Amino acid sequence: MLLSVHIELWGFPMKPAPFDYYAPETVDEAVSLLKKLEDDDIDAKILAGGQSLMPMLSLRMARPDALVDLGKIKTLDYIREENGVIHIGAMTTKRAAEDSALLQQKQPLLHVATQHIGHRQIRNQGTVGGSFAHADPAAEYGAVAQALGMEMVVVGPDGERVIPVDEFYLSFLTTDIDCSEVLTEVRAPVMPGGTGWGFQEICRREGDLAIAGVAVTLKMEAGSCVDVVIAVFGVNAIAARLDDAEQVVNGNTPGEALFAQAGKAAAAALDEPITDVHATAEYRRSLIATLVKRCLTEAVSRAA
Ligand SMILES: Cc1cc2nc3c(=O)[nH]c(=O)nc-3n(C[C@H](O)[C@H](O)[C@H](O)COP(=O)(O)OP(=O)(O)OC[C@H]3O[C@@H](n4cnc5c(N)ncnc54)[C@H](O)[C@@H]3O)c2cc1C
Repeated sequence: MLLSVHIELWGFPMKPAPFDYYAPETVDEAVSLLKKLEDDDIDAKILAGGQSLMPMLSLRMARPDALVDLGKIKTLDYIREENGVIHIGAMTTKRAAEDSALLQQKQPLLHVATQHIGHRQIRNQGTVGGSFAHADPAAEYGAVAQALGMEMVVVGPDGERVIPVDEFYLSFLTTDIDCSEVLTEVRAPVMPGGTGWGFQEICRREGDLAIAGVAVTLKMEAGSCVDVVIAVFGVNAIAARLDDAEQVVNGNTPGEALFAQAGKAAAAALDEPITDVHATAEYRRSLIATLVKRCLTEAVSRAA
C-alpha cells in the first residue's frame, strides 16, 4: 500500500492500462488478427516473453488497446540447421538458445552473446524474436546480427519477407516489422571453419544492459588478418559495423599496436555516442577503443 502511494506520488503507476487480450494458436491467425485490429484503428502490440513489454506497460510507457500473445504458437519454437544456416524460431527462449549444443558448436558468437543477456530468469522467459523485435540499442543481438549478416523473417497479410539486418533496424526501438506482421524466425550462417571471434561488453552490474559492447569476427591467412568485421552496440540508436576500424586491421599482421590503432579508429568513427545516466559519450568512446582491442586479440587467439 505504502509502495503504491509513493509510486502514485512519483507519477509511475505499476499496473498496465486496460487492454484486450488475444492468444492466437497459429501464425496465420495472429496475422489476420493484427490486420483486423489495424483496420479497425485499434493499437495492438505483440506479446512474446514480456520481459521488455510488461515493464513498459506497467510504467505506462506503452498503452496499447490490445495485446496479441504469441505464447500458444508452438511452431515458432525451434533451433535447427539447414544448408549451412541456423534457423531460430522467434518464440524460442533465450534459455533454449543458451542451452543449444548446435549454437554452441556452430555459431559460438551468437551463443556467447545470448549468455550475456540479462539474468537466467530473464532468459527463461524472454524470447530470441522478442529481443530482435524490441531493438534496444544496448541489446547484444544487434551487434551480433550486424557482425554475422543475419536475416529476419516476418510474415504478414501479403506473405513472408526476409529482411537483411542492415534493413531491419531502423532507429531506437524501431524495426522494419509492420504493425500487422509477426517476426517468425531469425537466421544466422554457421560460422565458417577457422573463423576467430571475440565478444566483450561493459555493464554496471552483471545482467544489466550493456553501456557499450563489441563483436568481432576475422580469419587468418598467411599470418595476416582478413575478412575482419567489427560491430558495436550500446553506443548509438542502432548497432553498427565500423568499416574504418575494419580497414585498419584487414590485410595486416596482428599485434598490440595494430589493435590499439583499430580501437582508436573505432572510437573516432562513432557518430555522436549516447550520453545518459550511465555514461557520457566520451566514456563510451573510450570503452569502445578498449573493447575493440580486446575483441581483436580474443578473435586472433581463436582463429585457426
Ligand atoms: C532486468 C532485465 C535485464 C535485461 N537485460 C538485457 C540484456 O542485457 N540484453 C538484452 O538484449 N536484453 C535485456 N533485457 C530484455 C530482454 O532480453 C527481453 O527478453 C527482450 O528484450 C524482449 O523479449 P521478450 O520475448 O520478453 O519480448 P516482449 O517483452 O514480449 O516484447 C518486446 C517487444 O517486441 C515485440 N515483439 C516480440 N516478439 C515479437 C514478434 N515475434 N514479432 C513482432 N514483434 C514482436 C513486442 O510487441 C514488444 O514491442 C533485460 C530485461 C530485463 C527485465
